[in-house]
Amino acid sequence: MKEAPRANVFRDAWAGDLTVARCGTEVRVAGWVHRRRDHGGLIFIDLRDRSGIVQLVVHPQASGDAFALAEDLRSEHVVSAAGEIVKRAPENVNPNLATGDIEIHVRSLTRLAASETPPFPLDEDTPVDETLRLQHRMLDLRREGMREAMELRHTVITAMREVLNAHDFLEIETPILTRSTPEGARDFLVPSRLQQGSWYALPQSPQLFKELLMMSGFERYYQIARCFRDEDLRADRQPEFTQLDVEMSFVEEDDVIEVIEAVMSAVFAAGGFEVPAPPWPRMSFADAMLRYGSDRPDRRFALEIVDISQAVRGSEFKVFESVLGGGGAVRALNAGAREMSRSELEGLNEVVQRHGGKAVAWGFVENGALRSPIAKFLGEDRVAATVSGLQASEGDLLLFVADEPRVAAEALGALRLELGRRFGLIPEGGHDVLWMVDFPMFEPTDDGWGAVHHPFTAPKGSFADPGAMLSRAYDLIVDGWELGGGSIRINTPEVQEQVFKVIGLSEEEAGARFGFLLDAMKYGAPPLGGIAFGIDRVVAIMAGRDSIRDVIAFPKTASGSDPLTGAPAPVDAAQLRELGVRSIVDPA
Ligand code: ASP
Repeated sequence: MKEAPRANVFRDAWAGDLTVARCGTEVRVAGWVHRRRDHGGLIFIDLRDRSGIVQLVVHPQASGDAFALAEDLRSEHVVSAAGEIVKRAPENVNPNLATGDIEIHVRSLTRLAASETPPFPLDEDTPVDETLRLQHRMLDLRREGMREAMELRHTVITAMREVLNAHDFLEIETPILTRSTPEGARDFLVPSRLQQGSWYALPQSPQLFKELLMMSGFERYYQIARCFRDEDLRADRQPEFTQLDVEMSFVEEDDVIEVIEAVMSAVFAAGGFEVPAPPWPRMSFADAMLRYGSDRPDRRFALEIVDISQAVRGSEFKVFESVLGGGGAVRALNAGAREMSRSELEGLNEVVQRHGGKAVAWGFVENGALRSPIAKFLGEDRVAATVSGLQASEGDLLLFVADEPRVAAEALGALRLELGRRFGLIPEGGHDVLWMVDFPMFEPTDDGWGAVHHPFTAPKGSFADPGAMLSRAYDLIVDGWELGGGSIRINTPEVQEQVFKVIGLSEEEAGARFGFLLDAMKYGAPPLGGIAFGIDRVVAIMAGRDSIRDVIAFPKTASGSDPLTGAPAPVDAAQLRELGVRSIVDPA
Protein backbone atom coordinates (compact mmCIF):
# COMPACT_ATOMS: atom_id res chain seq x y z
CA MET A 1 0.00 0.00 0.00
CA LYS A 2 1.16 3.56 -0.62
CA GLU A 3 0.81 4.79 2.95
CA ALA A 4 0.43 3.22 6.37
CA PRO A 5 -3.07 3.32 7.86
CA ARG A 6 -3.71 6.01 10.49
CA ALA A 7 -2.90 4.39 13.83
CA ASN A 8 -6.07 3.70 15.80
CA VAL A 9 -7.45 1.08 18.17
CA PHE A 10 -7.63 -1.47 15.36
CA ARG A 11 -4.26 -1.18 13.66
CA ASP A 12 -1.20 0.85 12.82
CA ALA A 13 0.19 -1.13 9.86
CA TRP A 14 -0.88 -3.14 6.84
CA ALA A 15 -0.47 -6.88 7.31
CA GLY A 16 1.01 -7.55 3.89
CA ASP A 17 3.54 -4.72 4.01
CA LEU A 18 5.51 -5.83 7.08
CA THR A 19 9.18 -6.69 6.51
CA VAL A 20 12.23 -7.83 8.45
CA ALA A 21 13.25 -4.18 8.65
CA ARG A 22 10.65 -3.82 11.42
CA CYS A 23 11.77 -6.84 13.45
CA GLY A 24 11.83 -6.18 17.15
CA THR A 25 9.17 -3.48 16.97
CA GLU A 26 5.57 -3.62 18.13
CA VAL A 27 2.79 -3.61 15.58
CA ARG A 28 -0.97 -3.78 15.52
CA VAL A 29 -2.80 -5.31 12.56
CA ALA A 30 -6.44 -5.99 11.75
CA GLY A 31 -8.25 -8.17 9.27
CA TRP A 32 -9.84 -11.54 8.64
CA VAL A 33 -8.74 -14.98 9.81
CA HIS A 34 -7.61 -16.44 6.52
CA ARG A 35 -6.47 -19.74 8.01
CA ARG A 36 -5.92 -21.05 11.51
CA ARG A 37 -3.68 -23.96 12.53
CA ASP A 38 -3.29 -25.50 15.96
CA HIS A 39 0.25 -26.85 16.40
CA GLY A 40 0.29 -28.54 19.78
CA GLY A 41 0.46 -25.62 22.14
CA LEU A 42 0.94 -22.85 19.57
CA ILE A 43 -1.79 -21.41 17.38
CA PHE A 44 -0.91 -19.97 13.98
CA ILE A 45 -3.27 -17.56 12.32
CA ASP A 46 -2.89 -16.16 8.82
CA LEU A 47 -4.39 -12.71 9.09
CA ARG A 48 -5.54 -11.13 5.85
CA ASP A 49 -6.24 -7.52 4.95
CA ARG A 50 -6.26 -5.91 1.50
CA SER A 51 -2.49 -5.63 1.42
CA GLY A 52 -1.89 -9.34 1.98
CA ILE A 53 -1.30 -11.85 4.72
CA VAL A 54 0.85 -12.00 7.84
CA GLN A 55 1.27 -14.91 10.24
CA LEU A 56 0.27 -14.43 13.87
CA VAL A 57 1.65 -16.81 16.48
CA VAL A 58 -0.32 -17.08 19.70
CA HIS A 59 1.47 -18.64 22.65
CA PRO A 60 -0.42 -20.13 25.62
CA GLN A 61 1.39 -17.55 27.77
CA ALA A 62 0.12 -14.63 25.71
CA SER A 63 -1.50 -12.00 27.88
CA GLY A 64 -5.12 -12.13 29.05
CA ASP A 65 -7.47 -14.40 27.18
CA ALA A 66 -5.60 -14.14 23.85
CA PHE A 67 -4.88 -17.86 23.69
CA ALA A 68 -8.41 -18.91 24.63
CA LEU A 69 -9.73 -16.56 22.00
CA ALA A 70 -7.27 -17.84 19.37
CA GLU A 71 -8.53 -21.38 20.04
CA ASP A 72 -12.04 -20.20 19.35
CA LEU A 73 -11.29 -18.28 16.15
CA ARG A 74 -12.47 -19.71 12.85
CA SER A 75 -12.14 -18.72 9.21
CA GLU A 76 -13.29 -15.20 8.40
CA HIS A 77 -13.64 -14.00 11.99
CA VAL A 78 -12.54 -10.37 12.14
CA VAL A 79 -9.72 -9.63 14.57
CA SER A 80 -7.21 -7.03 15.70
CA ALA A 81 -3.88 -8.28 17.03
CA ALA A 82 -0.88 -6.56 18.58
CA GLY A 83 2.56 -7.98 19.21
CA GLU A 84 6.20 -8.04 18.27
CA ILE A 85 7.49 -8.59 14.73
CA VAL A 86 9.93 -11.48 14.86
CA LYS A 87 12.18 -12.97 12.19
CA ARG A 88 11.28 -16.58 11.44
CA ALA A 89 13.84 -19.36 11.83
CA PRO A 90 15.24 -20.21 8.36
CA GLU A 91 13.39 -23.56 8.27
CA ASN A 92 10.08 -21.79 8.88
CA VAL A 93 10.41 -19.18 6.13
CA ASN A 94 7.47 -19.30 3.67
CA PRO A 95 8.76 -18.24 0.24
CA ASN A 96 5.20 -18.09 -1.15
CA LEU A 97 4.23 -15.23 1.13
CA ALA A 98 5.51 -11.65 0.80
CA THR A 99 5.78 -11.53 4.60
CA GLY A 100 7.03 -15.13 4.77
CA ASP A 101 10.26 -14.39 6.66
CA ILE A 102 8.55 -12.78 9.65
CA GLU A 103 5.68 -13.41 12.04
CA ILE A 104 3.94 -11.51 14.80
CA HIS A 105 4.21 -12.91 18.33
CA VAL A 106 0.84 -11.85 19.64
CA ARG A 107 0.52 -10.12 22.99
CA SER A 108 -3.10 -9.11 22.72
CA LEU A 109 -5.92 -10.23 20.51
CA THR A 110 -9.44 -8.89 20.03
CA ARG A 111 -12.31 -10.36 18.07
CA LEU A 112 -14.16 -7.57 16.31
CA ALA A 113 -16.75 -9.82 14.69
CA ALA A 114 -17.42 -13.53 14.34
CA SER A 115 -18.35 -15.21 11.07
CA GLU A 116 -20.47 -18.14 10.08
CA THR A 117 -18.68 -20.81 8.09
CA PRO A 118 -18.43 -19.39 4.56
CA PRO A 119 -20.36 -21.31 1.88
CA PHE A 120 -17.11 -21.93 -0.02
CA PRO A 121 -13.44 -21.76 0.95
CA LEU A 122 -11.93 -18.30 0.56
CA ASP A 123 -8.35 -19.23 1.30
CA GLU A 124 -7.62 -21.23 -1.82
CA ASP A 125 -8.29 -20.95 -5.50
CA THR A 126 -10.48 -24.01 -5.85
CA PRO A 127 -13.13 -23.72 -8.56
CA VAL A 128 -16.48 -22.79 -7.05
CA ASP A 129 -19.85 -22.85 -8.80
CA GLU A 130 -20.37 -19.38 -10.28
CA THR A 131 -23.96 -18.96 -9.09
CA LEU A 132 -22.82 -19.63 -5.54
CA ARG A 133 -20.00 -17.11 -5.97
CA LEU A 134 -22.37 -14.47 -7.30
CA GLN A 135 -24.91 -15.13 -4.58
CA HIS A 136 -22.22 -14.46 -1.96
CA ARG A 137 -20.27 -11.97 -4.03
CA MET A 138 -19.05 -10.02 -0.99
CA LEU A 139 -17.26 -13.20 0.10
CA ASP A 140 -16.09 -14.08 -3.39
CA LEU A 141 -14.52 -10.62 -3.63
CA ARG A 142 -12.42 -11.45 -0.57
CA ARG A 143 -10.61 -14.10 -2.62
CA GLU A 144 -7.20 -13.24 -3.95
CA GLY A 145 -8.08 -13.63 -7.63
CA MET A 146 -11.02 -11.25 -7.38
CA ARG A 147 -9.08 -8.74 -5.34
CA GLU A 148 -6.34 -8.78 -7.97
CA ALA A 149 -8.91 -8.30 -10.73
CA MET A 150 -10.41 -5.27 -8.96
CA GLU A 151 -6.94 -3.82 -8.41
CA LEU A 152 -6.08 -4.30 -12.07
CA ARG A 153 -9.35 -2.66 -13.06
CA HIS A 154 -8.46 0.34 -10.93
CA THR A 155 -4.96 0.44 -12.45
CA VAL A 156 -6.43 0.39 -15.96
CA ILE A 157 -8.93 3.18 -15.30
CA THR A 158 -6.29 5.27 -13.51
CA ALA A 159 -3.89 4.95 -16.45
CA MET A 160 -6.66 5.97 -18.85
CA ARG A 161 -7.46 9.05 -16.82
CA GLU A 162 -3.84 10.03 -16.35
CA VAL A 163 -2.94 9.96 -20.03
CA LEU A 164 -6.13 11.69 -21.13
CA ASN A 165 -5.78 14.36 -18.44
CA ALA A 166 -2.22 14.96 -19.59
CA HIS A 167 -3.60 15.52 -23.09
CA ASP A 168 -6.09 18.18 -21.91
CA PHE A 169 -9.19 16.01 -22.06
CA LEU A 170 -12.08 17.02 -19.80
CA GLU A 171 -14.05 14.37 -17.94
CA ILE A 172 -17.72 15.25 -18.33
CA GLU A 173 -20.74 13.22 -17.22
CA THR A 174 -23.76 12.65 -19.43
CA PRO A 175 -27.30 11.57 -18.46
CA ILE A 176 -28.34 8.04 -17.57
CA LEU A 177 -32.04 8.89 -17.89
CA THR A 178 -32.29 9.92 -21.51
CA ARG A 179 -33.74 9.07 -24.89
CA SER A 180 -32.92 6.19 -27.15
CA THR A 181 -29.32 6.35 -28.47
CA PRO A 182 -28.21 5.04 -31.85
CA GLU A 183 -26.16 1.90 -31.13
CA GLY A 184 -28.89 -0.30 -32.52
CA ALA A 185 -29.48 -2.64 -29.59
CA ARG A 186 -32.69 -2.93 -27.58
CA ASP A 187 -33.17 -0.18 -24.98
CA PHE A 188 -33.79 -0.53 -21.28
CA LEU A 189 -36.75 1.70 -20.47
CA VAL A 190 -37.69 3.56 -17.28
CA PRO A 191 -41.24 4.81 -16.85
CA SER A 192 -41.73 8.45 -15.95
CA ARG A 193 -43.95 9.02 -12.92
CA LEU A 194 -44.31 12.74 -13.55
CA GLN A 195 -45.25 12.27 -17.19
CA GLN A 196 -47.13 9.05 -17.17
CA GLY A 197 -47.07 7.15 -20.43
CA SER A 198 -43.64 8.51 -21.28
CA TRP A 199 -40.40 6.65 -20.81
CA TYR A 200 -36.73 7.34 -20.43
CA ALA A 201 -34.26 5.06 -22.19
CA LEU A 202 -30.98 4.18 -20.52
CA PRO A 203 -28.08 5.15 -22.80
CA GLN A 204 -26.58 2.41 -24.97
CA SER A 205 -23.60 4.76 -25.07
CA PRO A 206 -23.07 8.51 -24.55
CA GLN A 207 -22.71 8.84 -28.35
CA LEU A 208 -25.09 11.72 -28.97
CA PHE A 209 -24.03 13.66 -25.89
CA LYS A 210 -20.36 13.41 -26.66
CA GLU A 211 -20.99 14.72 -30.16
CA LEU A 212 -23.00 17.58 -28.65
CA LEU A 213 -20.10 18.35 -26.30
CA MET A 214 -17.86 18.76 -29.35
CA MET A 215 -20.44 21.05 -30.90
CA SER A 216 -20.34 23.00 -27.61
CA GLY A 217 -16.62 23.54 -28.11
CA PHE A 218 -15.13 21.28 -25.43
CA GLU A 219 -12.61 19.90 -27.96
CA ARG A 220 -11.53 16.87 -25.96
CA TYR A 221 -13.90 14.85 -23.78
CA TYR A 222 -13.76 11.56 -21.98
CA GLN A 223 -15.87 9.67 -19.51
CA ILE A 224 -15.78 6.34 -17.74
CA ALA A 225 -19.36 5.73 -18.79
CA ARG A 226 -21.89 3.08 -17.90
CA CYS A 227 -23.80 1.79 -20.94
CA PHE A 228 -26.93 -0.32 -21.08
CA ARG A 229 -27.98 -2.68 -23.87
CA ASP A 230 -30.83 -5.14 -23.53
CA GLU A 231 -29.30 -7.92 -25.59
CA ASP A 232 -29.08 -11.65 -25.23
CA LEU A 233 -26.03 -12.21 -23.10
CA ARG A 234 -22.86 -14.10 -23.84
CA ALA A 235 -19.67 -14.62 -21.85
CA ASP A 236 -18.29 -11.27 -22.96
CA ARG A 237 -21.55 -9.29 -22.67
CA GLN A 238 -23.38 -7.76 -19.74
CA PRO A 239 -26.62 -5.75 -19.79
CA GLU A 240 -24.68 -2.89 -18.23
CA PHE A 241 -21.02 -2.40 -18.94
CA THR A 242 -18.39 0.27 -18.56
CA GLN A 243 -16.87 2.11 -21.43
CA LEU A 244 -14.00 4.54 -21.77
CA ASP A 245 -15.75 7.04 -23.98
CA VAL A 246 -13.68 9.62 -25.89
CA GLU A 247 -14.45 12.36 -28.40
CA MET A 248 -12.31 15.03 -30.10
CA SER A 249 -12.90 17.99 -32.45
CA PHE A 250 -11.06 19.06 -35.59
CA VAL A 251 -9.59 15.60 -36.04
CA GLU A 252 -9.05 12.89 -38.62
CA GLU A 253 -8.38 9.19 -38.04
CA ASP A 254 -4.67 9.61 -37.31
CA ASP A 255 -5.33 12.18 -34.57
CA VAL A 256 -7.66 9.89 -32.64
CA ILE A 257 -5.53 6.82 -33.25
CA GLU A 258 -2.36 8.50 -32.01
CA VAL A 259 -3.88 9.67 -28.72
CA ILE A 260 -5.48 6.29 -28.16
CA GLU A 261 -2.21 4.49 -28.83
CA ALA A 262 -0.69 6.62 -26.05
CA VAL A 263 -3.60 5.80 -23.72
CA MET A 264 -3.74 2.09 -24.40
CA SER A 265 -0.01 1.48 -24.41
CA ALA A 266 0.11 3.16 -20.99
CA VAL A 267 -2.80 0.98 -19.85
CA PHE A 268 -1.11 -2.21 -21.05
CA ALA A 269 2.22 -1.19 -19.49
CA ALA A 270 0.56 -0.34 -16.16
CA GLY A 271 -0.94 -3.83 -16.02
CA GLY A 272 2.23 -5.60 -17.17
CA PHE A 273 0.56 -6.76 -20.38
CA GLU A 274 3.24 -6.92 -23.03
CA VAL A 275 2.36 -5.62 -26.47
CA PRO A 276 4.49 -4.29 -29.31
CA ALA A 277 5.21 -0.56 -29.11
CA PRO A 278 2.87 1.67 -31.17
CA PRO A 279 2.21 2.69 -33.89
CA TRP A 280 0.15 -0.47 -34.24
CA PRO A 281 -0.45 -1.96 -37.69
CA ARG A 282 -3.69 -1.24 -39.54
CA MET A 283 -5.52 -3.86 -41.56
CA SER A 284 -8.49 -3.37 -43.83
CA PHE A 285 -11.74 -5.20 -43.15
CA ALA A 286 -11.57 -6.80 -46.61
CA ASP A 287 -8.06 -8.10 -46.04
CA ALA A 288 -8.94 -9.44 -42.59
CA MET A 289 -12.02 -11.27 -43.86
CA LEU A 290 -10.03 -12.81 -46.69
CA ARG A 291 -7.02 -13.90 -44.66
CA TYR A 292 -8.49 -14.57 -41.22
CA GLY A 293 -12.23 -14.90 -41.84
CA SER A 294 -12.95 -12.38 -39.11
CA ASP A 295 -12.97 -8.64 -38.50
CA ARG A 296 -11.21 -9.29 -35.21
CA PRO A 297 -8.46 -11.65 -36.23
CA ASP A 298 -6.32 -13.46 -33.70
CA ARG A 299 -2.94 -13.12 -35.38
CA ARG A 300 -0.92 -14.69 -32.60
CA PHE A 301 -0.71 -17.69 -34.93
CA ALA A 302 -0.36 -17.67 -38.73
CA LEU A 303 -2.66 -20.26 -40.37
CA GLU A 304 -3.99 -17.89 -43.01
CA ILE A 305 -6.92 -18.56 -45.30
CA VAL A 306 -6.18 -18.68 -49.03
CA ASP A 307 -8.68 -18.10 -51.82
CA ILE A 308 -8.21 -20.96 -54.29
CA SER A 309 -11.22 -20.21 -56.49
CA GLN A 310 -9.02 -19.69 -59.56
CA ALA A 311 -6.95 -22.81 -58.90
CA VAL A 312 -9.98 -25.14 -58.77
CA ARG A 313 -12.29 -23.49 -61.31
CA GLY A 314 -13.60 -25.69 -64.12
CA SER A 315 -13.34 -29.05 -62.31
CA GLU A 316 -15.81 -31.91 -62.26
CA PHE A 317 -16.49 -31.35 -58.61
CA LYS A 318 -20.08 -30.18 -58.70
CA VAL A 319 -20.11 -28.56 -55.26
CA PHE A 320 -17.23 -26.22 -56.11
CA GLU A 321 -18.53 -25.51 -59.59
CA SER A 322 -22.02 -24.56 -58.52
CA VAL A 323 -20.70 -22.31 -55.76
CA LEU A 324 -18.25 -20.62 -58.15
CA GLY A 325 -20.94 -20.30 -60.81
CA GLY A 326 -23.16 -18.51 -58.28
CA GLY A 327 -20.55 -15.88 -57.43
CA GLY A 328 -19.21 -17.79 -54.43
CA ALA A 329 -15.66 -18.66 -53.46
CA VAL A 330 -13.57 -21.70 -52.63
CA ARG A 331 -11.18 -21.00 -49.81
CA ALA A 332 -8.83 -23.19 -47.86
CA LEU A 333 -6.50 -23.53 -44.90
CA ASN A 334 -3.23 -25.36 -44.81
CA ALA A 335 -3.39 -26.81 -41.29
CA GLY A 336 0.18 -28.13 -41.52
CA ALA A 337 1.32 -31.73 -40.99
CA ARG A 338 -1.47 -33.07 -38.76
CA GLU A 339 -2.97 -36.41 -37.92
CA MET A 340 -6.75 -36.34 -37.89
CA SER A 341 -9.08 -39.33 -38.18
CA ARG A 342 -11.97 -39.33 -40.59
CA SER A 343 -14.44 -38.89 -37.74
CA GLU A 344 -12.45 -35.98 -36.33
CA LEU A 345 -12.45 -34.40 -39.77
CA GLU A 346 -16.19 -34.91 -40.07
CA GLY A 347 -16.57 -33.31 -36.66
CA LEU A 348 -15.25 -30.09 -38.21
CA ASN A 349 -18.44 -29.87 -40.27
CA GLU A 350 -20.24 -28.79 -37.16
CA VAL A 351 -17.88 -25.82 -36.76
CA VAL A 352 -18.58 -24.51 -40.25
CA GLN A 353 -22.29 -25.23 -39.97
CA ARG A 354 -22.50 -22.99 -36.92
CA HIS A 355 -21.40 -20.20 -39.26
CA GLY A 356 -23.86 -20.96 -42.02
CA GLY A 357 -21.52 -23.20 -44.05
CA LYS A 358 -22.40 -26.66 -45.29
CA ALA A 359 -19.36 -28.90 -44.94
CA VAL A 360 -15.58 -29.05 -44.94
CA ALA A 361 -13.72 -30.90 -47.67
CA TRP A 362 -10.30 -32.19 -46.68
CA GLY A 363 -7.18 -33.68 -48.14
CA PHE A 364 -3.69 -34.75 -47.10
CA VAL A 365 -0.68 -34.05 -49.30
CA GLU A 366 0.85 -37.43 -50.08
CA ASN A 367 3.65 -38.03 -52.55
CA GLY A 368 2.99 -34.68 -54.12
CA ALA A 369 -0.67 -35.61 -54.74
CA LEU A 370 -3.77 -35.18 -52.58
CA ARG A 371 -5.31 -38.04 -50.61
CA SER A 372 -8.87 -36.79 -50.51
CA PRO A 373 -12.37 -37.84 -51.49
CA ILE A 374 -12.45 -34.87 -53.87
CA ALA A 375 -9.03 -35.33 -55.52
CA LYS A 376 -10.26 -37.37 -58.46
CA PHE A 377 -12.89 -34.77 -59.34
CA LEU A 378 -10.38 -31.94 -59.26
CA GLY A 379 -7.80 -33.59 -61.50
CA GLU A 380 -4.02 -33.43 -61.29
CA ASP A 381 -3.48 -29.89 -62.52
CA ARG A 382 -5.94 -28.31 -60.17
CA VAL A 383 -4.59 -30.34 -57.28
CA ALA A 384 -1.10 -29.12 -58.13
CA ALA A 385 -2.26 -25.50 -58.34
CA THR A 386 -4.09 -25.89 -55.01
CA VAL A 387 -1.10 -27.46 -53.29
CA SER A 388 1.19 -24.70 -54.52
CA GLY A 389 -1.36 -21.96 -53.75
CA LEU A 390 -1.45 -23.19 -50.17
CA GLN A 391 2.33 -23.62 -50.05
CA ALA A 392 1.66 -27.15 -48.87
CA SER A 393 4.25 -29.84 -48.38
CA GLU A 394 4.25 -33.55 -47.69
CA GLY A 395 1.86 -34.59 -44.92
CA ASP A 396 0.00 -31.27 -44.74
CA LEU A 397 -3.72 -31.31 -44.03
CA LEU A 398 -5.74 -29.01 -46.29
CA LEU A 399 -9.29 -27.94 -45.45
CA PHE A 400 -11.68 -26.44 -48.00
CA VAL A 401 -14.94 -24.55 -47.72
CA ALA A 402 -16.99 -23.45 -50.73
CA ASP A 403 -19.77 -20.95 -50.19
CA GLU A 404 -20.75 -17.36 -50.75
CA PRO A 405 -17.67 -15.28 -49.87
CA ARG A 406 -18.89 -14.03 -46.49
CA VAL A 407 -19.95 -17.49 -45.32
CA ALA A 408 -16.77 -19.15 -46.62
CA ALA A 409 -14.72 -16.49 -44.82
CA GLU A 410 -16.53 -16.80 -41.49
CA ALA A 411 -16.66 -20.61 -41.57
CA LEU A 412 -12.94 -20.86 -42.26
CA GLY A 413 -12.28 -18.16 -39.69
CA ALA A 414 -14.03 -20.31 -37.08
CA LEU A 415 -12.21 -23.41 -38.30
CA ARG A 416 -8.92 -21.55 -38.02
CA LEU A 417 -9.61 -20.69 -34.38
CA GLU A 418 -10.68 -24.27 -33.67
CA LEU A 419 -7.45 -25.63 -35.16
CA GLY A 420 -5.45 -23.00 -33.29
CA ARG A 421 -6.94 -24.21 -30.02
CA ARG A 422 -6.86 -27.91 -30.86
CA PHE A 423 -3.25 -27.97 -31.95
CA GLY A 424 -2.02 -25.48 -29.35
CA LEU A 425 -0.91 -22.96 -31.97
CA ILE A 426 -1.55 -19.94 -29.73
CA PRO A 427 1.73 -19.14 -27.98
CA GLU A 428 1.81 -18.33 -24.26
CA GLY A 429 2.52 -14.64 -23.61
CA GLY A 430 3.16 -12.20 -26.40
CA HIS A 431 0.12 -10.31 -27.56
CA ASP A 432 -1.02 -8.99 -30.88
CA VAL A 433 -2.53 -5.54 -31.37
CA LEU A 434 -3.91 -4.09 -34.56
CA TRP A 435 -6.33 -1.52 -35.88
CA MET A 436 -9.12 -2.72 -38.12
CA VAL A 437 -10.02 -0.04 -40.68
CA ASP A 438 -11.97 0.45 -43.91
CA PHE A 439 -15.15 -1.28 -42.81
CA PRO A 440 -18.05 -1.32 -45.19
CA MET A 441 -20.39 1.61 -44.49
CA PHE A 442 -23.62 -0.25 -45.29
CA GLU A 443 -24.67 -3.87 -45.30
CA PRO A 444 -27.61 -5.36 -47.16
CA THR A 445 -30.72 -6.04 -45.07
CA ASP A 446 -33.96 -7.80 -46.03
CA ASP A 447 -35.40 -4.55 -47.35
CA GLY A 448 -32.45 -2.37 -48.38
CA TRP A 449 -29.38 -1.17 -46.51
CA GLY A 450 -28.41 -0.94 -42.87
CA ALA A 451 -25.55 1.01 -41.30
CA VAL A 452 -22.72 -1.27 -40.15
CA HIS A 453 -21.80 1.14 -37.33
CA HIS A 454 -24.10 3.76 -35.84
CA PRO A 455 -25.49 6.08 -38.51
CA PHE A 456 -23.39 9.08 -37.46
CA THR A 457 -20.23 7.40 -38.74
CA ALA A 458 -18.68 9.34 -41.63
CA PRO A 459 -18.68 7.55 -44.99
CA LYS A 460 -16.06 7.33 -47.77
CA GLY A 461 -17.06 6.87 -51.40
CA SER A 462 -20.10 7.69 -53.49
CA PHE A 463 -23.73 7.45 -52.36
CA ALA A 464 -24.47 6.26 -55.91
CA ASP A 465 -23.11 2.85 -54.88
CA PRO A 466 -23.84 2.33 -51.15
CA GLY A 467 -22.59 -1.27 -51.23
CA ALA A 468 -19.11 -0.09 -52.19
CA MET A 469 -18.92 2.71 -49.61
CA LEU A 470 -16.50 2.34 -46.73
CA SER A 471 -16.79 3.98 -43.33
CA ARG A 472 -14.25 6.05 -41.46
CA ALA A 473 -14.49 3.66 -38.51
CA TYR A 474 -11.66 1.94 -36.67
CA ASP A 475 -11.57 -0.88 -34.11
CA LEU A 476 -8.70 -1.86 -31.85
CA ILE A 477 -8.22 -5.63 -31.83
CA VAL A 478 -6.11 -7.49 -29.28
CA ASP A 479 -5.61 -11.27 -29.53
CA GLY A 480 -8.87 -11.68 -31.41
CA TRP A 481 -10.94 -9.47 -29.10
CA GLU A 482 -12.44 -6.17 -30.14
CA LEU A 483 -11.45 -3.92 -27.25
CA GLY A 484 -12.65 -0.66 -28.69
CA GLY A 485 -14.09 1.03 -31.70
CA GLY A 486 -15.00 4.43 -32.98
CA SER A 487 -15.05 6.63 -36.02
CA ILE A 488 -14.82 10.03 -37.57
CA ARG A 489 -18.40 11.35 -37.49
CA ILE A 490 -20.59 13.15 -39.93
CA ASN A 491 -20.65 16.88 -39.15
CA THR A 492 -22.92 18.33 -41.82
CA PRO A 493 -26.70 17.90 -42.21
CA GLU A 494 -26.29 17.23 -45.96
CA VAL A 495 -24.20 14.08 -45.51
CA GLN A 496 -26.27 12.96 -42.54
CA GLU A 497 -29.46 13.20 -44.59
CA GLN A 498 -27.95 11.08 -47.33
CA VAL A 499 -26.98 8.36 -44.86
CA PHE A 500 -30.48 8.35 -43.37
CA LYS A 501 -31.88 8.09 -46.88
CA VAL A 502 -29.77 5.02 -47.72
CA ILE A 503 -30.83 3.21 -44.55
CA GLY A 504 -34.46 4.14 -45.15
CA LEU A 505 -34.85 6.38 -42.11
CA SER A 506 -37.44 9.01 -42.96
CA GLU A 507 -36.91 12.65 -42.07
CA GLU A 508 -39.72 12.45 -39.50
CA GLU A 509 -38.30 9.35 -37.88
CA ALA A 510 -34.77 10.75 -37.77
CA GLY A 511 -36.16 14.01 -36.41
CA ALA A 512 -38.14 12.23 -33.73
CA ARG A 513 -35.21 10.09 -32.57
CA PHE A 514 -32.17 12.31 -33.02
CA GLY A 515 -33.68 15.71 -33.79
CA PHE A 516 -31.62 17.49 -31.15
CA LEU A 517 -28.36 16.24 -32.71
CA LEU A 518 -29.51 17.13 -36.24
CA ASP A 519 -30.46 20.59 -34.97
CA ALA A 520 -27.06 21.02 -33.38
CA MET A 521 -25.45 20.19 -36.72
CA LYS A 522 -27.19 23.22 -38.21
CA TYR A 523 -25.31 25.54 -35.87
CA GLY A 524 -21.75 24.78 -36.90
CA ALA A 525 -20.44 21.37 -35.92
CA PRO A 526 -16.67 20.92 -36.01
CA PRO A 527 -15.15 17.93 -37.78
CA LEU A 528 -15.19 15.36 -35.00
CA GLY A 529 -14.36 11.80 -34.12
CA GLY A 530 -13.92 9.52 -31.17
CA ILE A 531 -13.80 6.04 -29.83
CA ALA A 532 -15.02 3.88 -26.97
CA PHE A 533 -13.32 0.99 -25.17
CA GLY A 534 -15.04 -1.79 -23.30
CA ILE A 535 -13.24 -1.55 -19.98
CA ASP A 536 -14.56 -4.90 -18.80
CA ARG A 537 -13.03 -6.58 -21.83
CA VAL A 538 -9.77 -4.68 -21.56
CA VAL A 539 -9.37 -5.81 -17.95
CA ALA A 540 -10.49 -9.38 -18.67
CA ILE A 541 -7.98 -9.87 -21.43
CA MET A 542 -5.18 -8.31 -19.39
CA ALA A 543 -6.07 -10.50 -16.42
CA GLY A 544 -6.28 -13.57 -18.66
CA ARG A 545 -9.91 -14.25 -17.68
CA ASP A 546 -12.36 -15.85 -20.08
CA SER A 547 -15.38 -14.05 -18.72
CA ILE A 548 -15.86 -10.34 -18.10
CA ARG A 549 -17.94 -11.34 -15.07
CA ASP A 550 -14.64 -12.10 -13.36
CA VAL A 551 -13.52 -8.47 -13.57
CA ILE A 552 -16.81 -6.80 -12.57
CA ALA A 553 -17.47 -6.41 -8.86
CA PHE A 554 -21.19 -7.16 -9.08
CA PRO A 555 -22.02 -8.67 -12.48
CA LYS A 556 -25.17 -10.33 -13.74
CA THR A 557 -25.59 -13.92 -14.87
CA ALA A 558 -26.18 -14.96 -18.47
CA SER A 559 -29.92 -14.59 -17.87
CA GLY A 560 -29.45 -11.00 -16.74
CA SER A 561 -30.12 -11.62 -13.08
CA ASP A 562 -28.11 -10.80 -10.00
CA PRO A 563 -28.17 -13.71 -7.53
CA LEU A 564 -26.89 -11.39 -4.78
CA THR A 565 -29.73 -8.86 -4.76
CA GLY A 566 -32.27 -10.96 -6.58
CA ALA A 567 -32.67 -8.34 -9.32
CA PRO A 568 -34.69 -8.15 -11.45
CA ALA A 569 -37.66 -8.62 -9.12
CA PRO A 570 -41.41 -8.02 -9.20
CA VAL A 571 -42.64 -4.74 -7.73
CA ASP A 572 -45.77 -3.82 -5.80
CA ALA A 573 -48.94 -3.16 -7.72
CA ALA A 574 -49.06 0.21 -5.93
CA GLN A 575 -45.67 1.16 -7.30
CA LEU A 576 -46.80 0.33 -10.81
CA ARG A 577 -50.01 2.29 -10.39
CA GLU A 578 -48.03 5.33 -9.31
CA LEU A 579 -46.03 5.03 -12.53
CA GLY A 580 -49.14 4.59 -14.65
CA VAL A 581 -47.94 1.14 -15.72
CA ARG A 582 -49.89 -2.10 -15.84
CA SER A 583 -48.13 -5.44 -16.19
CA ILE A 584 -49.61 -8.02 -18.53
CA VAL A 585 -47.36 -10.72 -17.08
CA ASP A 586 -47.90 -12.45 -13.74
CA PRO A 587 -44.68 -12.40 -11.76
CA ALA A 588 -43.11 -15.87 -11.72
N1 ASP B 1 -20.58 4.83 -29.42
C1 ASP B 1 -19.80 3.76 -29.99
C2 ASP B 1 -20.02 2.50 -29.18
O1 ASP B 1 -20.42 2.57 -28.04
C3 ASP B 1 -18.34 4.06 -29.97
C4 ASP B 1 -18.00 5.31 -30.73
O2 ASP B 1 -18.35 5.42 -31.91
O3 ASP B 1 -17.32 6.16 -30.13
O4 ASP B 1 -19.79 1.40 -29.67
